[in-house]
Amino acid sequence: MSIESSPFDVVIVGGSYAGMSAAMQLARARRRILVVDGGMRRNRFAATSHGFLGQDGRAPDAIAAEGKRQLLAYPTVQWLDGEAMHATQTPDGFAVRTRAGQLVRTRLLVLATGVVDELPEVPGLAERWGKHVFHCPYCHGYELGQGTIGVLAVGPVSLHHATMLPDWGTVTLFTNGAIELDEVQRQALIARGVTIEPERVEGIVDAATVLLADGRRVVTDGLFTASRTRVSSPVAEQLGCRFEESPIGTYIQTDALKATSVQGVFACGDAARMAGSVAFAVGDGVQAGVAAHQALLHA
Ligand code: FAD
Ligand code: MG
Repeated sequence: MSIESSPFDVVIVGGSYAGMSAAMQLARARRRILVVDGGMRRNRFAATSHGFLGQDGRAPDAIAAEGKRQLLAYPTVQWLDGEAMHATQTPDGFAVRTRAGQLVRTRLLVLATGVVDELPEVPGLAERWGKHVFHCPYCHGYELGQGTIGVLAVGPVSLHHATMLPDWGTVTLFTNGAIELDEVQRQALIARGVTIEPERVEGIVDAATVLLADGRRVVTDGLFTASRTRVSSPVAEQLGCRFEESPIGTYIQTDALKATSVQGVFACGDAARMAGSVAFAVGDGVQAGVAAHQALLHA
């Protein structure tokens, strides 16, 4: 594609649920926008997406493809398959350079890059991510049919998982040396019907069977664990955006309008909230898109 030399009104980095939702509001205001997208949605490992009203149970890529088709019907939208590698402030906005070397100028930026999941290093876990191993009970708990559920501990945050998940099935917490339970926590888990398994986890085999160091195998219908998340792209750091720390990772700090700490830069979706979902990404994208449009009016 040819990218015009005059600046775009808004460049949106990340063209998944959050970015496309932001773009949609700006497209409907007939603003000249560019979406730059690397095509690596966080949920690409899962066959179905749940909990987003009107799209429950649909394939994640089908939801995104439908959104893209509707977005690209607006004539002021341009799309670039690629990766924004570097962003700097300029006197009239921002300049973004892609991995392929294209240079794009824009008045405002929306960062919707999502996050990367860093998974616990347990043999067999990564290849089951999104299929038999999950992080979000609301997304994938119901489909386990109130069966047997394992929680693989990674730290104190796993106590939260183990306390929630009995609403979705019969739970075993594999502490795996990652969490020390005090007596109050232990009793609270037992009161929720949780079995506590202290033996070290060697790996995951079959669908979601946990292999223990003493040779036992615990068959589960699905496993939950907490990934550590980090924002997918260094662009927010390069621009000097402030970040927030959470027990599961860092994300870009935003205000209620999804403005970052850097004027002219907005952020939405998983990149700018603690625990994201498709619905939150779409909602935050609307907010970021509207706020960016308002900022164009008042610049
Ligand atoms: P993403 O969908 O992750 O998209 C980010 C986009 O930005 C990608 O296309 C990426 O390539 C692009 N990008 C990143 N950096 C750059 C760059 N520098 N330049 C250009 N493009 C870039 N949520 C639900 O609501 N229901 C579910 O059932 C569900 N299941 C899930 C299953 C799994 C296994 C996982 C890991 C997550 C699941 N989620 C689910 C969460 C959901 O995937 C996220 O909340 C959602 O994808 C966030 O949308 P987003 O637009 O913020 O980011
Ligand atoms: Mg997005």
